[in-house]
Amino acid sequence: MNIPLIDLKAQYKSIAEDLDRVTKEVLSSANYIMGKNVIEFEKEFAEYIGVKHAISVGNGTDALVIALKSLGIGNGDEVITSTFTYFASAEAISAVGATPVFVDVEKETFNIDPTKIEEKITKKTKAIIPVHIFGQSARMDEINEIAKKYKLKVIEDAAQAVGSKYKGRMVGTLGDVACFSFFPTKNLSCAGDGGMIVTNDDSIATIATALRTHGSGENGQRAYNLLNNITEEVETFKGGDDTVYNPLKYYNYLIGFNSRLDAIQAAILRVKLPHLNVWNERRREIAKIFDRELKDSNVVVPTIDKENETVYHQYVLQSDDRESMLSRLKEKGVATGVYYPIPLHLQKVYKDLGYKEGDMPVAEYLSNRTFAIPVYPELTENEINYIVESIKA
Ligand SMILES: *Cc1c(COP(=O)(O)O)cnc(C)c1O
Repeated sequence: MNIPLIDLKAQYKSIAEDLDRVTKEVLSSANYIMGKNVIEFEKEFAEYIGVKHAISVGNGTDALVIALKSLGIGNGDEVITSTFTYFASAEAISAVGATPVFVDVEKETFNIDPTKIEEKITKKTKAIIPVHIFGQSARMDEINEIAKKYKLKVIEDAAQAVGSKYKGRMVGTLGDVACFSFFPTKNLSCAGDGGMIVTNDDSIATIATALRTHGSGENGQRAYNLLNNITEEVETFKGGDDTVYNPLKYYNYLIGFNSRLDAIQAAILRVKLPHLNVWNERRREIAKIFDRELKDSNVVVPTIDKENETVYHQYVLQSDDRESMLSRLKEKGVATGVYYPIPLHLQKVYKDLGYKEGDMPVAEYLSNRTFAIPVYPELTENEINYIVESIKA
């Protein structure tokens, strides 16, 4: 048997008719940038998460970059994040000119350890980016309390956690602003790159909306005023239908980005969003089988905190002898992934930040032990059993 880590073809087949229809509609409409599908998807996604604003962007990394910039974070600032995450969480901080400050994780949940955050706060600290790793929420109450005490902003990196809950509350509603990714391997994915910024804050929404399209036009001026504490009214275009020609579009106020969600991706995401809860529930069912069947074997099964309802973006096991486990599973045709083999504080790219081995013992320990097995919703009973038996063997 051959079981991939994720089977995107199986998902496509399950909804192919709808996906084919909507992509053809977009192609024949010739409206490829913004337009109805993007506006509607933003509304539907905001409603799903339970937030006031959803601003779609080109990918999850841009979502983080634009969220940081919307909070006015840049040169000379420090932003705290987990060392045990995908590079983009820290890369976005560096991309706006700020410095990532890494914090070790909890051994059980793999999430940022709130008890180790305060010692990393300096006068330059502006924000915390908790990452809901592998789909499980970080300890947001503790993190928000620290943020409040030191007047820091909280940006949730929810790229792996769409639909996940913390104390019954939806991930994405738990900080000042949250970022999602629709990369093909994420729980809600498009046919390429896509991302989303969500917030209940009107000012952050205005600035993020301006930044994703070059910081120009009326909204660009509004964003400029907000970022610079200017209170004057912004002149609006009175020339009729502004989709035809709006000269204000060519008035620039901010250095922004060209980072939009393509109409074709929005159409695809509108088809998939109504399936997301069922898919996430199926991941939890599969995980329950793995938990039950593997808890007494020679691997460590994941720990989900009782406050959390995770979405198992990855089902991550631990082994004392990972390398031989992985090569045996490969022989049996069961694909695996290692998340993450090098914690970010030990990455070459960050050598100038001065971290050394031993600084973050938990993340370093985990990085030598963890491996992910397939947990995608389309797995058959047969395949689930085969994965279990292969690991036990
Ligand atoms: C995938 C991911 C991102 C980046 O998303 P892209 O859409 O690939 O840019 C950021 N953070 C985390 C934790 C991710 O898993």
